[in-house]
Amino acid sequence: MRTQPNLNLVAATCSTCGATHTITTTARSIAVDVCSNCHPAYTGRESTVARGGRVERFNRRRELAA
Ligand SMILES: [Zn+2]
Repeated sequence: MRTQPNLNLVAATCSTCGATHTITTTARSIAVDVCSNCHPAYTGRESTVARGGRVERFNRRRELAA
């Protein structure tokens, strides 16, 4: 029985949310910008919050103008 020499268990830290994921990779170390924990495509929350904030600001400006 042989173990695969190229695969390492590496802790990858996400630079956006700081979550650490253990990834099996051929690299010795790895850094990720976006992970499944904070990517808008996965969470769907970030874009919704941003849109809500923009609408809120727009409505506030309309109230001031009226
Ligand atoms: Zn992340």
